[in-house]
Amino acid sequence: MPRPIQAVIHPQAVHHNLGVLRERAQGAKVWAVIKANAYGHGIERIFSVLSAADGLALLDLEEARRVRELGWRGPVLLLEGVFEPRDLELCSNLDLWHVVHHERQLDWLAAHKTQQPHHVFLKVNTGMNRLGFGPLAARSAHARLMAMPQVAEVSWMTHFSDADAPRGIDHQLQAWKQAVEGVEGEYSLSNSAAILRHAKSPTDARKPDQTVAADWVRAGIAMYGGAPDHPQQTAAGWGLQAAMTLRSRLIAVQNLQAGDTVGYGSTFQATQAMTIGVVACGYADGYPRHAKGQGEHRTPVLIDGVECPLVGRVSMDMLCVDLQPVMNQQPAWSPWEAEVVLWGRSQTGTILSADRVAESAQTISYELLCALAPRVPVVIDHTP
Ligand SMILES: *Cc1c(COP(=O)(O)O)cnc(C)c1O
Repeated sequence: MPRPIQAVIHPQAVHHNLGVLRERAQGAKVWAVIKANAYGHGIERIFSVLSAADGLALLDLEEARRVRELGWRGPVLLLEGVFEPRDLELCSNLDLWHVVHHERQLDWLAAHKTQQPHHVFLKVNTGMNRLGFGPLAARSAHARLMAMPQVAEVSWMTHFSDADAPRGIDHQLQAWKQAVEGVEGEYSLSNSAAILRHAKSPTDARKPDQTVAADWVRAGIAMYGGAPDHPQQTAAGWGLQAAMTLRSRLIAVQNLQAGDTVGYGSTFQATQAMTIGVVACGYADGYPRHAKGQGEHRTPVLIDGVECPLVGRVSMDMLCVDLQPVMNQQPAWSPWEAEVVLWGRSQTGTILSADRVAESAQTISYELLCALAPRVPVVIDHTP
């Protein structure tokens, strides 16, 4: 028998979440962001529901090749553009749209020989200060692109640093306006947080200070059921469904006395007699080692749908859980058939969001989902 850990991917949840995001985006076209192998879910595993998106956005040329091989004929956007001049040939051959965020990429494009003019997204740095041209430089880059025979169409793009946070997006929209005012081209501004938090009531999508839905939105984490702004808002609060469940089983039970400790470093000490379960899941499966297993607010784990707290440090292949809550609720409870859900959906119907586990490990659900380890077997659950 294989080790009992398993990840379950729920494509219908992705489909549902795309619907939620499309509704919020008020008529904008939706890029489904499937970088990092669809945030750890597996591009192939969710491919069947991606037809609900208008385009696929990713970083890796290999992933772009894969979606073309799977039969995707719609737009594909390389979010970081090309990494070297010969990537442009693949863009021509596979009809990939690409971001231009740097002078070097302009030079490569100007020198590129192609039969087929490209669709590019010009990235404006409006304050994130990772990729893109400042507003004025963007205007000249736009003019240069428009004059190139290699270029068929130029759209505009920027990225928000604080769409989930108190600083918000207004300061970036000021810079955006400086770049795009009076210049033609489609717009793409919003990530998940901006789609959910900053899409305003119906307005003219061409006025960036009034709406951030614009022509294209870029939906990432929310499509997979993560709340980009947890804990201000929960995934359930946004109407999103978890697209990944990580589940396992108990492989041992220990009865502890007051004073006994658990795991490496003895970080947890029992204050009274208690029963703990040992779960076949550890950090080598992608569970965060820093999840809190001592003191107040320990990390929740679902045992047969009942939240039980993590105890002690997470080790490579195992973690331990206080079984008292489930034993209290279910007098005839037995450990050996119990379902352990680390995040996602329990068969009882209870949900434990990856956001909550991430919060307890001082990270974000993005990191947990992307870090699902290759050694974990994956199954697909097509039920809604
Ligand atoms: C990853 C990414 C997104 C998606 O962000 P989420 O917060 O997951 O919605 C959008 N735009 C760009 C440029 C990205 O790199």
